[in-house]
Amino acid sequence: MNDDLKERALAYHCLDGVPGKVSVVPTKPCQTASDLGLAYTPGVAKPVLAIEENPEDAYKYTSKGNLVAVISNGTAILGLGDRGALASKPVMEGKGVLFKRFADIDVFDIEVDEKDPDKLIEIVKALSPTFGGVNLEDIKGPECFKVEQELIKICPIPIFHDDQHGTAIIATAGMMNACEIVGKTLADIRVVVNGAGAAGISCAKMFVAAGVKREHIVMCDSKGVIYKGRAKGMTPEKEEFATEREVRTLAEAMVDADFFMGLSVADCVTAEMLLSMAKDPVVFAMSNPNPEIDYELAVSTRSDLIMATGRSDYPNQINNVLGFPFIFRGALDVRASRITEGMKMAAALALAKLAKESVPASVEKAYGGTKFSFGRNYIVPKPFDPRVIEYEAVAVAKAACEEGVALHPITDWEAYRASLVK
Ligand code: NAP
Ligand code: MG
Repeated sequence: MNDDLKERALAYHCLDGVPGKVSVVPTKPCQTASDLGLAYTPGVAKPVLAIEENPEDAYKYTSKGNLVAVISNGTAILGLGDRGALASKPVMEGKGVLFKRFADIDVFDIEVDEKDPDKLIEIVKALSPTFGGVNLEDIKGPECFKVEQELIKICPIPIFHDDQHGTAIIATAGMMNACEIVGKTLADIRVVVNGAGAAGISCAKMFVAAGVKREHIVMCDSKGVIYKGRAKGMTPEKEEFATEREVRTLAEAMVDADFFMGLSVADCVTAEMLLSMAKDPVVFAMSNPNPEIDYELAVSTRSDLIMATGRSDYPNQINNVLGFPFIFRGALDVRASRITEGMKMAAALALAKLAKESVPASVEKAYGGTKFSFGRNYIVPKPFDPRVIEYEAVAVAKAACEEGVALHPITDWEAYRASLVK
């Protein structure tokens, strides 16, 4: 199975003798001597001078406004760890494919051979005039926190580390719906977050923003429970979630927990731990490619379980592709100067809402005729649902306008919504 996947994946990446997955396509004619004189010198000097005089004109005369940089240094590629900048290129190209396929956004993938966060910040800052937004990708924790925070401060365009916020947004949407299905409120649930890296920290923060009580969260890392007074392996981000409770191991933390969020490593949750959780437990085992507990083992251990993973071959796939294309679409369309907490929450709420709508036959067809309806095995929408862009991009753009970060606010929302539907 894995060998077959290897063969098919490598063949896909050089299909028809074309290496890689993306190419640059001009949008203006260049067939005649006259075209040449407009596309390049001497005509091109005119927009140069126009932009020098009025930098806003870059959005009128160049591709900047619909161009996103997907930037990585390759230090945390998928769940594969640090494989270097060059090896991250297939992932970054793939991200470009998804941006284009789902939201018609163009991407330059940029792989930077630089691990020093301060230098990386300088490099991304220097590149930023080219782009309407920057998607940071697969940069390891804790460096990723500083890189993103500093860039948000110094760049006038949206900067978004997808491994942190994309995951958090989709997981929060799933959490809201899963809790609704089992009749629990976010303020009451007891949560275990296993993994305190880029994704774990960001998810925990967003859960709190959504209504989970911080004191109801127990976070674990490779050394066990993160507790007040722990000396080893701490970071400022972990400190924020250090528990006052006496629990010290994942097994202890799982007793009576309502919700488990795994962003760590494969197979660290046992059937016994699952059995010790509260009634109607919710388990998001998102470690890729193999979850914290095997799907089949989990669902055969407890029939009252709601189970989600990062994988496409089981129900309830929590995958970032439900987020980044649509979040950037909304942000770019109102020229948001940044992506605020309100915009992220609007994206999560839009996804949660869409999952409750009845699913059109076209979507079921795209998934081999599988029937989907809101419930234990369908808590978030499917990426190929054409309504995702309409719901999510509009919600993000609206939130940007409400929060005062939209340089070009939209007024006719119906027209905007219609423009998104192809
Ligand atoms: P990261 O920044 O490298 O963080 C990994 C975290 O896992 C660290 O806090 C590490 O602990 C902790 N960890 C390692 N072994 C552990 C163990 N045995 N028990 C508990 N915690 C352990 O990586 P990341 O970007 O957050 O990603 C983490 C995992 O989530 C990866 O498998 C990734 O593929 C997956 N993920 C999935 C999705 C999705 O959409 N499905 C999205 C994002 C991430 P220390 O801090 O002690 O080193
Ligand atoms: Mg990633």
